[in-house]
Amino acid sequence: MALEKKPVVVCISGPSGVGKGTVLKEVLSQEDRAWVSISATSRPPRGQEEHGVDYYFVSKDEFQQMIAADQILEYDEFCGNYYGTPRAQIEARLDAGYSIFMDITVKGALAVKKALPQAITIFLAPPNLQELRSRLEFRDTESPEKITSRLAQAKQEISQAPQFDYFLINECLEETTAAVEQILYVERLRACRRALAIQAILEKF
Ligand code: 5GP
Repeated sequence: MALEKKPVVVCISGPSGVGKGTVLKEVLSQEDRAWVSISATSRPPRGQEEHGVDYYFVSKDEFQQMIAADQILEYDEFCGNYYGTPRAQIEARLDAGYSIFMDITVKGALAVKKALPQAITIFLAPPNLQELRSRLEFRDTESPEKITSRLAQAKQEISQAPQFDYFLINECLEETTAAVEQILYVERLRACRRALAIQAILEKF
């Protein structure tokens, strides 16, 4: 089993504005068969966001119908809106041997880990809360009230970071990206060694 071919499932969580999307973009540029999960959300699009590219934008009713029809692998409510991972797309990519990357809340990442125990969970934290506030203000996509609500949520999320496999402080994009790549390298090595060890034992029977 070639190391570079081993598909992984990675959940990156952390407060809004911490830079999960930017880190994921960098990491993805180094992967061959990798795909970022496209979530469904009841939040309206912001800026240049496109339906089917950044998110599947649906109404709250539609989201609830998707939950009832068991079409959602995991979901969470964040600052008054639903966010969830459509199940079918994950199953299809897993079957096709893709690595899957997900940018989801803490509750979502822990639910994915339960459903897919091979998932690697990485928590990305800001250097401090002031830095997070500045990043959200600089991004300029949210009203001051929404920024306050996202910062309140951030404290709650950081308190759950010990439940993750890895904890990184996103101080510098290059260093964080390198750290995620090292995590993937080691995790692939572990999975590969495990598979080879099991195969070697089985051959003796
Ligand atoms: P935003 O509104 O900034 O795009 O996303 C808000 C939060 O929702 C972020 O922390 C993001 O990681 C999370 N999120 C996005 N998609 C999903 C999803 O499918 N499931 C869960 N649980 N969280 C998600």
